[in-house]
Amino acid sequence: MVKRQIDAESITDGRIGIKNKSVLEAMRRVLRHEFVPAHLKSRAYIDMPLPIGYDQTISQPYIVAYMTEMLDPKKEYKVLEVGTGSGYQAAVLAELVDHVYTIEIIKELGESAEKRLKRLGYKNVTVKIGDGYFGWEEHAPYDAIIVTAAPDHIPPMLIHQLKPGGQLCIPVGGRFRVQSLTLVQKTESGSIMTRQVMPVSFVPLTGKH
Ligand code: SAM
Repeated sequence: MVKRQIDAESITDGRIGIKNKSVLEAMRRVLRHEFVPAHLKSRAYIDMPLPIGYDQTISQPYIVAYMTEMLDPKKEYKVLEVGTGSGYQAAVLAELVDHVYTIEIIKELGESAEKRLKRLGYKNVTVKIGDGYFGWEEHAPYDAIIVTAAPDHIPPMLIHQLKPGGQLCIPVGGRFRVQSLTLVQKTESGSIMTRQVMPVSFVPLTGKH
């Protein structure tokens, strides 16, 4: 999967490949078939999102790798993920950083991801059931924040919970519209820079907002 769909040195389909060696290694180590429903295991390594129940999906491997690289993960980082889903993205990040805090709004998905991550031996991931639109104040500020469902605007609390020098990677766009994968950088002085990186298609961020 990494060689054919992700690694900049070997992909030939015209997409921007991933260059960060640690991210590529993490993508090799985390076995995607552990995160998909039993009847889809034979399709776990194709470059597509797959259903995980409750109208939700595990993201496409290329996008998981791309967003992970965008965060420029470092060993000492504390990362917040909004949208735990299957726990796959959290596991990839957990291979690279000190701790991952991840929030899932659908109780059943969050609970099964938590069990799965525990069974796979991840001790540096904490799962919470809740509405990630508001972030997770208790452990803030975060070195990096990743959102894996699309709101129609950038949640202000997520910017607030980002460390100076940190980055937020988030798909932004209304339901049924093309969304833009957006990188928000908070400078050391606290000012905000936003860059739209590429068109993407994520499930909507739900919740009371
Ligand atoms: N990162 C996941 C993975 O690796 O499997 C894929 C996430 S899926 C594309 C998006 C997830 O975001 C869904 O599980 C959905 O229930 C969750 N979600 C949607 N709105 C949310 C919210 N307000 N707070 C937390 N999670 C939310």
